[in-house]
Amino acid sequence: MKCISAVWLSRTDLTNLNSGEGEANFIDVKKYKRNGVEFPYVSGQAMRYYFKEAIRRNLDREEYMCVPNEKGETCGDISKCVGCDLFGFMTTIKKGTIIPGYPNGHPGGAITRVSPVKVSPAIGLLPFDENSVVDFLTRRHRFEGGKMEGDIVNVEIGTNIYKCGFAIDFARVGGEERVDEKTRSVKLEYYLQPEIRKKRAYKVIESLRFLSDYSKQARLLTDFTPDLIIIAFQNKYSHRIQKALDLSGNSLDVNRLDAVLKDVKSYSEKIIAGILPRVVENEKEVKSKLTELGIEVKRTDEAIEDALKYLKDYKIQ
Ligand SMILES: [Zn+2]
Repeated sequence: MKCISAVWLSRTDLTNLNSGEGEANFIDVKKYKRNGVEFPYVSGQAMRYYFKEAIRRNLDREEYMCVPNEKGETCGDISKCVGCDLFGFMTTIKKGTIIPGYPNGHPGGAITRVSPVKVSPAIGLLPFDENSVVDFLTRRHRFEGGKMEGDIVNVEIGTNIYKCGFAIDFARVGGEERVDEKTRSVKLEYYLQPEIRKKRAYKVIESLRFLSDYSKQARLLTDFTPDLIIIAFQNKYSHRIQKALDLSGNSLDVNRLDAVLKDVKSYSEKIIAGILPRVVENEKEVKSKLTELGIEVKRTDEAIEDALKYLKDYKIQ
């Protein structure tokens, strides 16, 4: 198995998950345009942050994940640190520091690691104008003498169905590519036992159920976890599954689903699907299409738990 990939839809209630530039008293929603129509989105950077925080909240007692310093640099020790291993880094290492790959101490300088976990931005699939409103809130300040005064701030909020996804480059979890000077070829060197490497990937899948650290939750409490999800354990590293889900109105495009999943299936050991009732209008049709493709359809939580079990039982050769 080289890659674990997932794509999902999440329907939100009224919220503002990721603000744009805005102005002093106006908090907008980040938007992109398609054929001149605006749709909301949540940046990939924000999505990575949600994943990291969900993993941090669910660390086991013996697990460690560093917090970036004031320069935004992390520890860079992939054997010790769950975050640096899964999400990569750009950091400077002090001369002599012992980190994986440098048993006699690093010569000092900048090191980078490409993130084995890649996440997509969350793309709103329904037009923003037709699914939003501008609300206002008051920011109260206490002045001398205890007098309260407030500014009115306008906030764009909307409901939508977002498409999101991730790909875990499983072959690189717990390892790093090293150039063999003798043969001038690249080889993966692992610094963790197979069971720990699996556990790192497990953390990412598990966090899907517990994503929660979005901005503005004090007033706009939102559930942004998957409502319709497809997870694939692939023998090839590929992002193809990201194209499996597309809406036409409030219905899922089953022809698209069929074509993409047939493609992904040809190099996948296992595909798992989950769906929450009434997320898309043609739920019945979606379920029968998935069943026809030999993919069992469960509730979303059951699908995620099934994926975790599959990974737990998986034997790394
Ligand atoms: Zn770290």
